[in-house]
Amino acid sequence: MSFESSCDETSVAIIEDGNKILSNIVATQINSHKRFGGVVPEVASRHHIEEITICIGDAMKKANVTYDDLTAVAVTYGPGLVGALLIGVTAAKAVAWAHNLPLIPVNHIAGHISAAAFVKPIEYPALALVVSGGHTELVLMPEEGEFKIIGETRDDAAGEAYDKVGRVLGLSYPAGPVVDEMAADGKDTFNFPRAMEKDDNYDFSFSGLKSAFINTVHHADQVNETLDKNDLAASFQSAVVDVLVDKTLKALKEFPVKQLILAGGVAANKGLRNALENSIKQTELVKAPIKLCGDNAAMIGAAAYVLNKKHKYAGTELNADPSLEFDWLEDAEK
Ligand code: ATP
Ligand code: MG
Ligand code: FE
Repeated sequence: MSFESSCDETSVAIIEDGNKILSNIVATQINSHKRFGGVVPEVASRHHIEEITICIGDAMKKANVTYDDLTAVAVTYGPGLVGALLIGVTAAKAVAWAHNLPLIPVNHIAGHISAAAFVKPIEYPALALVVSGGHTELVLMPEEGEFKIIGETRDDAAGEAYDKVGRVLGLSYPAGPVVDEMAADGKDTFNFPRAMEKDDNYDFSFSGLKSAFINTVHHADQVNETLDKNDLAASFQSAVVDVLVDKTLKALKEFPVKQLILAGGVAANKGLRNALENSIKQTELVKAPIKLCGDNAAMIGAAAYVLNKKHKYAGTELNADPSLEFDWLEDAEK
């Protein structure tokens, strides 16, 4: 049984052999956060408390299992909102303790990457492009269970930028999927900046692009000019996708890998999926299934499967770690 509660989705899943989904219940809180234009941590925690036991029951019923059928309990313990994480961690600890099952602590980003395991087995070395609401990074995985960030955003995450420009277009949170749809009906006419595209590193920056977008819209408002919103969306999306693809290609040149994995909430973006499909020729591209790009417990179960093989368990002292990095996995190895 796996738990995910790092942000605004309460999710419980039952996974078999790390790649078969028996159930994956996701209770989203989007409607509660919409009116605030983003996730309100306190509201998120309260929803998790209300939802988590219901999700456990639904997940077991849908998978048609009892506690006797379970082999381990896995949970996201970071990174994320501390109050939100704590609900999942506490629930997982309670189930593990009550039923005498090992408790597997999972890094949320390792979880996002592991969603690829539902498409096909991950082969190492692999490189993952993780694009989500809070992260944009290139993660090298020399071997199973090893993660090394070779590049990351210096300011906003790609998903965050999507949500912010979407707000300027009058869209509600989360705006990413709608901007994606609008982009499909527009053209790249604004030629927004491609920050750091030619820099000699694997880092990203999206705050300049976001400002350029907002300035363009505000300037047009001031002079009473009407801009084509689909073209604005398409221009923004092209700028984001161009740098993501360029930096990934550059990384693949230096690090020849067996697979390139695309994961995270923004990995659902059609423009990005198509662009990678068209430009990645040197290795196998494995895109996380669209339904498993956003936060869900199935991906946490897949990540936990690897940790379970290595007996990387935690005790009841396990705590939420809102700014968790990948080091824990490496340290535990030594
Ligand atoms: P993190 O995983 O970094 O902790 P998170 O869990 O909040 O952050 P995810 O749930 O992985 O983020 O992703 C949510 C983000 O994905 C939101 O910013 C949302 O707008 C964005 N997103 C979802 N679908 C699309 C899409 N089709 N195009 C662009 N962005 C999208
Ligand atoms: Mg979310
Ligand atoms: Fe996430």
